[in-house]
Amino acid sequence: MYKTNYHSHNTFCDGKSTMEDIVKAAIREGFSHFGISSHAPVPFESKVALKKERLEEYKTEFKRLKDKYSSEINLYLGLEIDFITDIQEDLKGQKKEYGLDFYVGSIHHVKEHNEDIDSWFIDGHDKDVYDRGLQKFFNSDIKRACSAYFNQQIQMVEKNRPDILGHCDKVYMNNAGRFFDRQTPWYESMVRDFIQVIKENEVIVEVNTRGLYKGRCDDFYPATKWLKIMKQEGIKVTVSTDCHKDTEVGLFYKEALDTLKAIGYREVCYFDGEWKEQLID
Ligand SMILES: [Zn+2]
Ligand SMILES: [Zn+2]
Repeated sequence: MYKTNYHSHNTFCDGKSTMEDIVKAAIREGFSHFGISSHAPVPFESKVALKKERLEEYKTEFKRLKDKYSSEINLYLGLEIDFITDIQEDLKGQKKEYGLDFYVGSIHHVKEHNEDIDSWFIDGHDKDVYDRGLQKFFNSDIKRACSAYFNQQIQMVEKNRPDILGHCDKVYMNNAGRFFDRQTPWYESMVRDFIQVIKENEVIVEVNTRGLYKGRCDDFYPATKWLKIMKQEGIKVTVSTDCHKDTEVGLFYKEALDTLKAIGYREVCYFDGEWKEQLID
């Protein structure tokens, strides 16, 4: 079975290891197909994203590593691209413009339709940022905020059909069971509705291990509960670690495959120029 991972960061964005150190770690960990996916440029100041003026440098370094390590690993050029309501909605246009092999479509900045440039940042380690944004943009109405989050994901999927759907229940992380949990009826119903949209658009969902190895979440993104429903609905998956440094490249990879097998998945997707499926060992 090919060991694959298409979600990795490096020092071109908010990663802590260089692109080369990430690639060397991937080789050590036995990955055969590996995607580089820095946070794509965004049209506002960001400490996290790759700067647009560094994009050529990013691609040049990728090409150098792809050639240098071609006998050891297959590397693919990607980005993790944000869908942000009214601000950045054409992800497949960016894929084309940047000449990418693939991209991960993700939501980190949540907003409703309005004139604001600013938005609710749901990622990061700081729950206070989450709570303050919830207050500022949604008047602390968590149901309204989650509704905006899932509506945004529905728009992203319907308008772009991303190659990989990134951490699709991340809104749960900084909530940390405080405002709602996975049994909360309105939340479960939002997730179930979104799963139907994923199914209709035949998008591949990543099983992202980062919350577990960072200790920020009690489950994968998406949680096992949602993966079970996705399995019943015939939704395809791929495993990724969303690593930000070389020591994280393979963390909880096997656990993710074991979980998928336990809930009945027999195959995962991989990319070698096109998307295919392979049996889980
Ligand atoms: Zn992300
Ligand atoms: Zn990421």
